[in-house]
Amino acid sequence: MPPMMRRFAVLLPGLLLVLLLAACTQSTEPLVVEDYLLGTVIRISIHDDGYDTSLTDRVFERVATIERRMSTSEDDYDDTELLTVNRAPAGTATPVSADTFEVLSAALDYSRVSDGAFDVTIWPLVKLWGIGSGGETVPPEGEITAARELVDYHDLTLNADGTVTLAREGMGVDVGAIAKGYAADEAERILRDAGVTSALLDFGGNILVIGSKPDDSPWRIGIQRPDAERSRYIGIVHTADRTVVTSGPYERFFVEDGVRYHHILNPDTGYPSRNGLVQVTIVAERSIDADALSTTSYVLGLTGAYDLIESIKGVEAVFATEERELFLTPGLQESDESPQNTTETHFELTDDEYQVREITAVTDR
Ligand code: ADP
Ligand code: MG
Repeated sequence: MPPMMRRFAVLLPGLLLVLLLAACTQSTEPLVVEDYLLGTVIRISIHDDGYDTSLTDRVFERVATIERRMSTSEDDYDDTELLTVNRAPAGTATPVSADTFEVLSAALDYSRVSDGAFDVTIWPLVKLWGIGSGGETVPPEGEITAARELVDYHDLTLNADGTVTLAREGMGVDVGAIAKGYAADEAERILRDAGVTSALLDFGGNILVIGSKPDDSPWRIGIQRPDAERSRYIGIVHTADRTVVTSGPYERFFVEDGVRYHHILNPDTGYPSRNGLVQVTIVAERSIDADALSTTSYVLGLTGAYDLIESIKGVEAVFATEERELFLTPGLQESDESPQNTTETHFELTDDEYQVREITAVTDR
C-alpha cells in the first residue's frame, strides 16, 4: 500500500468499532505503536516500562512476513505462497513455509469441526464476490453456482512433506478468516518472550491482552453494537490474558437494492451468510481459535454455534441477533456477588436496547 494510503488508513477510527477503555491509574504512558498490515490498522500498546519501538518493529516485521506468505490479494501482491498454491495446476504438490502449513492445518481442522460452515477452500467464492476488494454487485447466479461447486475442503490435502495439493482445477484456499488470529498469537509470543507482562494488541478489532492492566484490574474491551454507527457499543468484556474476537457484517460490505452483502460467505448457498445472527464475539486463549470460531459461528447460526462453542473447553461467546437479543455462554455470565469486583472474565451489558436472554428460549424455535 502506498505511504499516503497507509497514513490515511491509520487515521481511520478503529476498524471494528471496538472501544478500548483506557487504563487511567498507571504511572507512565504506555508505548503505543500502529501500522497498517493484514488489511487493517494494528495497534500495539505496551504498558510495562522500559520498552521501545525496537520491540514493536520486530512484531510488525513478523506480521508483515505472515502477510507476505498468506495474502491472497492479487491487488497487493504479484505472488505469495497461497497465490502460488491457488494458481498451481490441479494435483500439484506445492511447498509452503511452516507458518503457512500451520495456518492451513488449523483452517482445515475448523472446516472439519464445522462440517464445512467454515471452509478453507472458500477462495473461488471470495474472489467472485470481491467484497472488500472492489466487488459492488451481486455476481450472476450461474457464476455463484460454479464457484460454490469448487468449494470443498475434502479436496485439499496437506501432505506429510509440508506440501499442499488441491484436487480440482479452479480451486483455491483463503485464510482471511484466521490469519489475523495467528498473527496476533505470534505477536503475543514475541512480546512475552521479551518480558512484557501487560499489553493490549488490537488487530483491527481482534483484541488480545497480555496480563491485566498495570493496576492489576481486568482489561475492559468494548463490543461494537452491530446495528449502530461505529464507536457505539453494547457491552464490555472484562478479562485478562485472553483474546476477544468479533465477526460482524459491517466491516466489508456493499448494498444493492437495499440488501447488505457482507464478506462472510455461506459455502452451501454461495451467498453472504444470513441466519438472524448478526454478530459473534469469541473469548479464548488463542487468537487463531477465536478468529476461526467467530467466522464459523457466524455461518452456523445461533443454535449450531452455541452448541459448538459449549463443546470447546476454555472458549466463550456473545451472540447478537437481529432482534437485539444477546446470548452468552455460561463462562461469560456475571456472578451475583458484586460483579464489579470480580476479576473473572465476564460480559457487562451497557446498552438498554439490548437484552440478555437464556439460550433455552432458542432451542424451542
Ligand atoms: P475479518 O477478517 O473481517 O475480521 P473474519 O475473521 O470473519 O472477518 O473473516 C472474513 C474473511 O474470511 C473473508 O474476508 C474471507 O476471506 C474469509 N471467509 C469468508 N467466508 C468464509 C467461510 N465460510 N469459511 C472460511 N473463510 C471464510
Ligand atoms: Mg475470523
